[in-house]
Amino acid sequence: MFILFLGFVLGTSGLFAQSDPVTIEVRPGKVYVSTSDAGQHLNFDLLLRNSLDQKLLINKVELSVFDASGKLAWRDFYDEYGRPSLELSRFPSLAPKDTALIYNPFHTLPKDVSLARLKYEFFFSSEDRSKTYSARIEVAPELFVQKTDLALPLKGRILVWDGYDYNSHHRRVDYTQKFFEQIGQKTNFQRYAIDFVIVDEAGQHYRGRARSNDDWYRNRQDEMTEYLTYGIPVYAAGSGKVVAVRDDVGERHFDPKDLASDERAFYGNYVVIDHLNGEFTLYGHIKKGTALVKAGDAVKQGAQIASVGAAGSSLFPHLHFELRDGSGARTVEGLPSYFSNYRRVLGAKTKLVKRGPINTGEIVTN
Ligand SMILES: [Zn+2]
Repeated sequence: MFILFLGFVLGTSGLFAQSDPVTIEVRPGKVYVSTSDAGQHLNFDLLLRNSLDQKLLINKVELSVFDASGKLAWRDFYDEYGRPSLELSRFPSLAPKDTALIYNPFHTLPKDVSLARLKYEFFFSSEDRSKTYSARIEVAPELFVQKTDLALPLKGRILVWDGYDYNSHHRRVDYTQKFFEQIGQKTNFQRYAIDFVIVDEAGQHYRGRARSNDDWYRNRQDEMTEYLTYGIPVYAAGSGKVVAVRDDVGERHFDPKDLASDERAFYGNYVVIDHLNGEFTLYGHIKKGTALVKAGDAVKQGAQIASVGAAGSSLFPHLHFELRDGSGARTVEGLPSYFSNYRRVLGAKTKLVKRGPINTGEIVTN
């Protein structure tokens, strides 16, 4: 298939230029690279802003990666024809005078590709395809270097029910939507969050009668005690000072109105530890009345701080864990996390990991 783009190049590399029909912003402003055995990972969003009075189709996004000497090291694209992406099918167009948040679709690159400079170029057309436009932005990501030593916050056979991979619900938060604007939420604090559950050998996280997966949602009134994770101890992943605690909210209680008085109300109950180096850990959905620490307490890695519950915006008992750059929510961004001295369960075998990331689908123990 041959597609001819006649558009003139519009937009200034990396700069916000008011006169361009479409401008791009990178969110958050600081872009980190994190690593795993699978490669190098980029978890950020691109905010497109259409200044025209007409709807624009998003035809294509192209990534060019350059090394430190400015030489091309990688080229990739998604378009509406031969190589569609989840992003382009979800946001096929930009409404007049509107914005669209695109979750960076080039989320994982091989380990040996230098990521000194990334150029993102978007191509647009009018609905009748008579006019074409383009916009570009450059990103210089920084390798994330974690300052806090983190241990797993639960004991037992732990499944990462959902983490921060490209398809995770934590990553896919569109904080530019009206609801978030109304509550003053400007960032994605759960960009790198991890939901931990305890599972049995078969990978189930509840006892009792057999169920199919989606019964988790239908049986919302089930007894909490059917879940293996309910009520088990939560341990401080790292040493630091407790800066926020709440444990008065009941199971599965979340009213968006509560966000006016508590910007962390999504979690229901929580403990936040300041690691005194710009990094904080947050432990969300803890069980009502189980906090063992209070704001101001010094805690050591491995100390029990609470028990797992399902308070706040939670489907079932699990621990929602975040490493983040602040204690609140409205302007806080998530950070990648690496854990020390745990074992990955690989079927009959387990593998000791001295330090590594933990993400969706992994089964780990300590
Ligand atoms: Zn979560």
